[in-house]
Amino acid sequence: MATQLSHVAQQDQRSQFHPFTSINDLKAEGPTVMASGSGVRVRDVNGKEYLDGMAGLWCVNLGYGRQEICDAIAQQSQRLSFFHTFNGMSSDVVAECSEALLARAPVPMSRVFFGASGSDANETQLKLIWVYNNLRGKPEKKKIIARWNAYHGSGVATASLTGLPGMHTLFDLPKGPILHVSAPNYYRNAPDGMSERDFSRQLAKELEALIEREGPDTIAAFFVEAVMGAGGLIPPPEGYFEEITPILKKHDILLVADEVVSGFGRLGTYWGSQTYGYEPDLITSAKGVTSGYFPMSAVFISPKVWDVIEAGADKVGVFGHGYTYSAHPVGAAAALAALKLIDDLKVVENVADVGPYMMQSLRDRLGQHPHVGDIRGKGLMLGIELMQDRGTKQTFPMANRTGRQVLKAAAERGLITRALGDTLVFAPPLIISRTEVDEIVDKFALAVDDVLKS
Ligand SMILES: *Cc1c(COP(=O)(O)O)cnc(C)c1O
Repeated sequence: MATQLSHVAQQDQRSQFHPFTSINDLKAEGPTVMASGSGVRVRDVNGKEYLDGMAGLWCVNLGYGRQEICDAIAQQSQRLSFFHTFNGMSSDVVAECSEALLARAPVPMSRVFFGASGSDANETQLKLIWVYNNLRGKPEKKKIIARWNAYHGSGVATASLTGLPGMHTLFDLPKGPILHVSAPNYYRNAPDGMSERDFSRQLAKELEALIEREGPDTIAAFFVEAVMGAGGLIPPPEGYFEEITPILKKHDILLVADEVVSGFGRLGTYWGSQTYGYEPDLITSAKGVTSGYFPMSAVFISPKVWDVIEAGADKVGVFGHGYTYSAHPVGAAAALAALKLIDDLKVVENVADVGPYMMQSLRDRLGQHPHVGDIRGKGLMLGIELMQDRGTKQTFPMANRTGRQVLKAAAERGLITRALGDTLVFAPPLIISRTEVDEIVDKFALAVDDVLKS
């Protein structure tokens, strides 16, 4: 790492409190300060170029510097830089954007509710679910089940839904009527010799046992990511959703699909729920909706939930929820441009081609590496879990911070990845080419060997 920090790095280091950053690491090493980006690449203030294997934070799906989105943002800012949507107000781009989103929903949806982040969208979900059950005369049906290793956001309620102890302990969380079941982590948690399908059955049994123990009349909703992202890149084992969904139906429990990462093509279908064939009652989207060019989230509300809320209009009165930046016109303009590009550039088709190619390339290059335990994922959402001993699944000592060492070696080589413990993950822009994938795999394999000479 640079021993002499640049002027801006020093400014940042002494003034910014960084999210999800080790205070000690930042003090010791300083920040990496980016200055520009184009396509799948970004450049830091020292002029060093990186291939961004993470699309920022799983969001810059269309790559950096997309002229169409930049123009849409610039023009909308000049035409109408802001208007709100409280008290029945709206703007033309917002109306158009709502329709464009509903037209792309995986199942018929009645309304979209806008926000500015995935976290605030999941807060909206919780409130909608509680309103829904109050209006149905089921005030006891309020508990929410999420999974360990889930990531649903960083607010008080959404960090509670999130199943990561590091986001709970010092913050006095989880709070609220929130329960967790096991992560569907086949590689780590399935008993030796158990098939994926049987592991899915075991997880379904655990879920149903929890529902019965708590009382089905107290459980309102179950939150899922299609492939778990920030909690360790965990794809569902075979048959997982087929086993889970009938249990939810049977007990009248809503299925909330958190598609903040998996929406808009990341898994090789437009929505993650389509990859795995389940039908959500509520969908959370954010990140890719504007390709990360503007903060925006959209909650999709199915007829099942909307009809109850609409029928309760007299009781609801003025719906007491929303954000200043709900349905920001500049965000709507960015989203409209991004949605059009997703169609025009055949982004979903590209992921369906390049995703499996990347998986195969990683397996060809690293599948036999003595310290690579598992290579997993779907579409362009892939993880490589490092192990001290792949045979016995012995992990490296935590203190080694092996994943972080590999991340730093990759950065030295001009590749951005992300370390979730010792699982290195890739979620590159969805417009990536096979040649650029080759570059990721090559740089990454070299970085693994920089740290773990085989
Ligand atoms: C990023 C993320 C969120 C939270 O989104 P923010 O915009 O960071 O608030 C929620 N759910 C999932 C699955 C995410 O990856």
